[in-house]
Amino acid sequence: MTFIANLIDGVARPAAGGATLPVIDPADGQPFSEIAKGTAADIDLAIAAARRAYQGAWGRMPAFERGRILSRLSGLILARHQELAELETHDTGKPIQQARNDITACARYFEFYGGAADKLHGETIPYLDGYTVLALREPFGVTGHIIPWNYPAQIFGRTVAASLAAGNACVVKPAEDACLTPLRISALAAEAGLPAGALNIVSGLGAEAGAALAAHPGINHLSFTGSPAVGTIVAQAAAANHVPVTLELGGKSPQIVFADADLDQAEPFLVNAILQNAGQTCSAGSRVLIERPIYDSLVERLSGTFSKLVTGPGMRGLDCGPLISRKQFDRVTGMVDRALADRVQVAARGKLVPDAPNGGFYFPPMLLADMPVDHPVAQQEIFGPVLTAFVFADEDEAVRVANATPFGLVASVWTRDGARQLRLAKRVIAGQVFINNYGAGGGVELPFGGMKHSGYGREKAFEGLRGYTQVKTVAIRHG
Ligand code: NAD
Repeated sequence: MTFIANLIDGVARPAAGGATLPVIDPADGQPFSEIAKGTAADIDLAIAAARRAYQGAWGRMPAFERGRILSRLSGLILARHQELAELETHDTGKPIQQARNDITACARYFEFYGGAADKLHGETIPYLDGYTVLALREPFGVTGHIIPWNYPAQIFGRTVAASLAAGNACVVKPAEDACLTPLRISALAAEAGLPAGALNIVSGLGAEAGAALAAHPGINHLSFTGSPAVGTIVAQAAAANHVPVTLELGGKSPQIVFADADLDQAEPFLVNAILQNAGQTCSAGSRVLIERPIYDSLVERLSGTFSKLVTGPGMRGLDCGPLISRKQFDRVTGMVDRALADRVQVAARGKLVPDAPNGGFYFPPMLLADMPVDHPVAQQEIFGPVLTAFVFADEDEAVRVANATPFGLVASVWTRDGARQLRLAKRVIAGQVFINNYGAGGGVELPFGGMKHSGYGREKAFEGLRGYTQVKTVAIRHG
C-alpha cells in the first residue's frame, strides 16, 4: 500500500513515532493508502522549520518572486490535473467531474494569489503638520492551517496560497479522513521553487496533531475550516497565546424562491447547491424556501428531478458519490430518521446504482417537505444530500425563516423584482448573497466567510489576502 509522507523543512518524512493511519476509499470502505499519524513532536518540527524559513530565504524574498513561485505551483498542479482529480475522488468519494473542478480551483488560488503577491500595498495617512504616517502591511510570521475533509485541495489552496502570498510561512494540518491531495501538492513545492520550510504539512488526528497546532505558542495566526464545535475548541486554545483566528464553520444556507422567479433557470441551481459533494459542503443550499403560490408545483418539479438522481462510485461520474465515512453516514442517517419520526415527509429520493460496491457509504439524495422551521433538524447542518422545503407567505416571513438558524454563511434569492432583490440582500444575514444564482464553493475572487455561528474572518479574494497580514503604523516626525 502506498504511503504518502508529511513534508517538513522540505523533506518527506514519516511521523516522528513512525505511526500511520489508513486511508479509506468511501466508494467501497476499503483502505487503499497510508498517511503519517503525526503528533505534537511533528508539529514542533514543522513550526521550527517555518520560523527558520520566515526569518531566512522566504521572509527576505521580494514579493514578486514569491508570486512567481506560487504561479509556478499553479502550473504544476494543472500539469497533474487528472492524476490529482482521481486521487481526490478516491480519497473523498466525490464524483470525478467535481474533483476536476476542485483541482482547477486549487490551481486558481495559487494563480490568483501569485498574481496578487506584489500588489498588496499599505497606506499613507494624512496626520499632523510635519509628519508622514505609514500603515505597513506585514505578514504575521508563521501561520497554522487546519482544514477539513470535504474540499481538501480547494481549502488547502484557499488558505495556503493567500498566506504564502502575504509572506508568511505555513504549517498545515489536513483532515485525517481526506488529505492526499494537499500532501501531494505540498510535495511539488520545491519544484516550484519554494524554499524549504516555507510550507510544511503534518497529517494526523485532530485531537493530536490538530490540537498541538492550535495550542502552539510558535504560531502567529490560525486559520480553521471545519465544524462549529471544533472551531470553539481551537479558538480557545489559540486565545491562550493571543493568536488571532479565522473561523470558517458550517451553514444552513437558504435558497429563497419567490413566485415570480424564473424556475427554469432556478431549478438546476436549487438542486446542485445541495447535490454538490453529496451535500458535504459548508455553503450547501440545504433549505429551499418557497412562496406559497408555487410551493406545491415547485416541490413536485424538484421531486421529479430528485427521483432521477443516480448515486454510485465517484469514479463513474454520476450525480452523487458516497459520503466520506461510516461516521458521517451514521450521522446523516440518524438526523433524517429523527425528522421522519416527527412526520416530516420524504417528497422524493434518488437511486443507488444496483452494482454499487458493498461497504461504500452511499446515501442517495433526498427531498424533505413539511419540516417545522424550529425542528432541530431544520436548525443543524445535516451535511448530506438532503434538501428541505419550507413554505413562506410573504417577504417578511421569507426573511424570518431564512434568518431562523444559528448560521449565516450563504443565501440565494430568486425573484425578477429588482427592488426586492436588494431588500433581501440587505435583510438576509449571510456572508454571501447570490441573486438569481448560487455559488457554493466557486469564485476565487469573491470574499467568503460567515456571520453568526458560521464563523468570522474572510477567505478568498483580496480580503482573504489582507486577512493574512497585520498593519504596522509608522509615524515619522520630520518637521
Ligand atoms: P472537524 O471540525 O471535525 O474537522 C476539521 C479539522 O479539524 C480536521 O483537520 C480535524 O482533524 C481537525 N480537528 C478535529 N478536532 C480537533 C481538535 N480538537 N483540535 C484541533 N483540530 C481538530 O470538521 P469536519 O468534519 O472535517 O468538516 C465538516 C465541517 O466543516 C462542517 O461543519 C462544515 O460546514 C465545515 N466546513 C466549513 C467550511 C467553510 O469554509 N465555512 C468549509 C468546509 C467545511
